[in-house]
Amino acid sequence: MIYDVVVVGGGPSGATAASDLARKGHKVAMIDRAGRIKPCGGAIPPRLIEDFDIPDSQIVAKITTARMVSPTARAVDIPIENGFVGMVDREFYDEFLRKRAVTAGADRHTGTFLRIERDEAGTHVVYRDKASRNEVRLTTKLIIGADGARSDVARAEVPGGDKIPYVIAYHEIIKTPEAGSKGAEKYDATRCDVIYDGVISPDFYGWVFPHGAHCSVGMGTGVDGTDLKEATRLLRESSGLTECETLRKEGAPIPLKPLDRWDNGRDVVLAGDAAGVVAPSSGEGIYYAMQGGREAAFAAAACLKSGRVADLKLARKRFLKEHGSVFRILGAMQDAYYRSDERRERFVSLCHDVDVQRLTFEAYMNKRLVKARPLAHLKIGVKNVAHLWGLVSPLSV
Ligand SMILES: Cc1cc2nc3c(=O)[nH]c(=O)nc-3n(C[C@H](O)[C@H](O)[C@H](O)COP(=O)(O)OP(=O)(O)OC[C@H]3O[C@@H](n4cnc5c(N)ncnc54)[C@H](O)[C@@H]3O)c2cc1C
Repeated sequence: MIYDVVVVGGGPSGATAASDLARKGHKVAMIDRAGRIKPCGGAIPPRLIEDFDIPDSQIVAKITTARMVSPTARAVDIPIENGFVGMVDREFYDEFLRKRAVTAGADRHTGTFLRIERDEAGTHVVYRDKASRNEVRLTTKLIIGADGARSDVARAEVPGGDKIPYVIAYHEIIKTPEAGSKGAEKYDATRCDVIYDGVISPDFYGWVFPHGAHCSVGMGTGVDGTDLKEATRLLRESSGLTECETLRKEGAPIPLKPLDRWDNGRDVVLAGDAAGVVAPSSGEGIYYAMQGGREAAFAAAACLKSGRVADLKLARKRFLKEHGSVFRILGAMQDAYYRSDERRERFVSLCHDVDVQRLTFEAYMNKRLVKARPLAHLKIGVKNVAHLWGLVSPLSV
């Protein structure tokens, strides 16, 4: 048996790639090592829910306000107009996506990817089966590497795949405070808090993301030596969540920059975190992982049809055509505003502007840079420059 494609990794990117390929009638296998819940805030935009047909049963909370908190504890509440930010629980969401891939026709293998071997009979993916502990060899025409931020496939096969820059994100899953209990007065189950404060994170941000019965409280940083647990303790304290029962403590890397190459020019293409695809500034990766999985599946299908390995490059090309400018703008924003408390204060100031709110949320919710009122872009540009050059007070609205 020779597979058309073996997908390594069954997270959002791998499961999406496997589903798409199976739906097109390809012989596809998906290998995932079971047993670990992906540490994640779980926030997803409406565009994802629509494009990837996510049922309401997967949404554990609907967020209608985003609160931006500055280093001096000023809070700007941004109402989420015409919709909501969905919250998913990765323990169930990823399994839902994997099962959907199987229903579409993918073969599911549970175990740990070990290596790729090539010989005169073809290309083989070798993994250690979780149940039998034996090595299993799957022969395939193509491979999609969707095995997350520390991808073994990327490291072994794609130039630069061993050098993806990342921040480390850490969070604690806690029980939501019950009404009337300590912590409940500051907590709103329909509001996400995003905390820009050098004490919590010197170069990224902290968050409180409600998940129905649970809540994710955490932060990210790329600065070596930062005490992530202490920062999260402080964040829980300032949010009134110290007393809530802690269910899990976990961390993982978030890649910062898409790789220059996603394929090995032969038979491998990467998707999702393995390709370094997480939005700068926000750290949003689930939508981009699923979109990246879809583009990797598209590129693999094109390559299988044409026999041209150059078609594997379509994944990166098509993805960046659609999302490259948003990534560039978010990258510039992170460089400009995440470097000092004074800059963070200015950033939160800027969030008061209704046009900034509309543009930012439209870009997040629908993944499009919309045309605002004719003068809005100009006004935002001028405000941006004024803040970056220190021409206005960080505390000005
Ligand atoms: C703390 C934290 C909070 C975050 N919050 C958000 C958020 O709120 N919203 C958002 O959009 N993004 C968030 N992200 C980013 C998001 O979680 C990732 O971008 C997204 O999960 C990437 O999906 P993926 O499928 O590419 O990789 P992953 O989700 O990492 O999936 C990789 C899969 O590959 C499997 N795998 C790995 N190695 C092997 C191997 N050797 N053999 C077999 N299988 C293997 C794993 O089991 C896993 O199932 C957060 C990240 C972190 C760390």
